[in-house]
Amino acid sequence: MVWRVGEIGADRLAAHGGTPVRETLLAYGRQEVLPGDIDAVCEVLRSDWLTTGPVVERFESAFAARVGARHAVSFSSGTAALHGAVFAAGLGDGDEAVTTPLTFCATANALLYQGATPRFADVDPEALLLDPERVRGALGARTRAIVAVDYAGHPAPLHELREIARDAGLVLIEDASHAPGALYHDAPVGSLADLTTFSFHPVKHVTTGEGGMVTTDSDEYAARLRRFRNHGIATSGRERQTGRWQYEMVDLGYNYRLTDVACALGLAQLERLPANLARRREIAARYASRLRDLPGLVLPAERDHARSAWHLYPVRLELERLATDRDELLAALRAEGIGANVHYRLVYQQPYYRERFGDLSGCAPVAEDAERRLVSLPMYHAMTDADVDDVERALRRVLGYFAR
Ligand SMILES: *Cc1c(COP(=O)(O)O)cnc(C)c1O
Repeated sequence: MVWRVGEIGADRLAAHGGTPVRETLLAYGRQEVLPGDIDAVCEVLRSDWLTTGPVVERFESAFAARVGARHAVSFSSGTAALHGAVFAAGLGDGDEAVTTPLTFCATANALLYQGATPRFADVDPEALLLDPERVRGALGARTRAIVAVDYAGHPAPLHELREIARDAGLVLIEDASHAPGALYHDAPVGSLADLTTFSFHPVKHVTTGEGGMVTTDSDEYAARLRRFRNHGIATSGRERQTGRWQYEMVDLGYNYRLTDVACALGLAQLERLPANLARRREIAARYASRLRDLPGLVLPAERDHARSAWHLYPVRLELERLATDRDELLAALRAEGIGANVHYRLVYQQPYYRERFGDLSGCAPVAEDAERRLVSLPMYHAMTDADVDDVERALRRVLGYFAR
């Protein structure tokens, strides 16, 4: 019998009964909550306002300043923020918006909530961002918006997309859930699209448990967003307790408010965003130097004009050089204690979308090819160098075993 690398001794795959690289699973992303965060939350719990109070405004002002936008409007989740942005942009029944299929389904779902239809355009083969040429090709008579996504934390090609939006009279919405603190030609993400949305889910850079934000320079959009998250009512509950009691509901809105409790956590976390981004850059650089020579992997890269926020570290497998597929390799990594993940299953391949819009296979061949190869390696700012080295050891073992 012929022994292959990885079948004997300490190199045996954990999936085949070997000793795993790690005892406990290294998450692909997770929050960091420090004692100061907890103190800030407790202070609000002892105060008069658990929601619609002053800490909401403080968090919004601090966030707007951080991303260079005139307004920041908080929401109860990143998904609610997207819904708000689609509402503020005025999309409704029969309207269409061009977006990427390589995103979390919430990006496209927000269009459906308002009766609009997503049109999926393909991504570019290097950064996997919405390809401006494909966007142009997807425009139609009913197109009202472009919804770009800063995949993995790398800003979308915003100048090109803005130009397309301007020429065609469209609203540019940017789902920047992955990219707070990212820079595009030296400008912060959050200051570049008509409406930019963020998420504060625990795997994101800044967490409030659940939460989201929309930033905009438009007074009108900001006013619409504030009404939308508050049932469509023009005045806040706090204003009605101290001023006029009367209220007018002028839009069909929702209760999408973020609490003061959550905003206190967000404010404390936001202060650490610069350090958080710097640490993610270090981790990305360490991955790049450790994994560069590994056959079978294509590493994510940053373009000259951009500073990625490094939300994810998605590598692509050169399947032609491996005697396996992505799913088996991912399972082998998890057996080693490395919580690798996939971002994302293409939105139009989700059962709900297939049922509703039919089989769109082939409409984004670059994204489809990438989807088969993508593995997100662990990436979060509280990761240690030793964690990165564990990922390297696991990858060497697993790729060594499956090398052709
Ligand atoms: C996290 C995320 C969302 C949704 O945010 P929630 O806060 O979980 O609702 C939307 N789009 C993208 C790209 C995301 O990563």
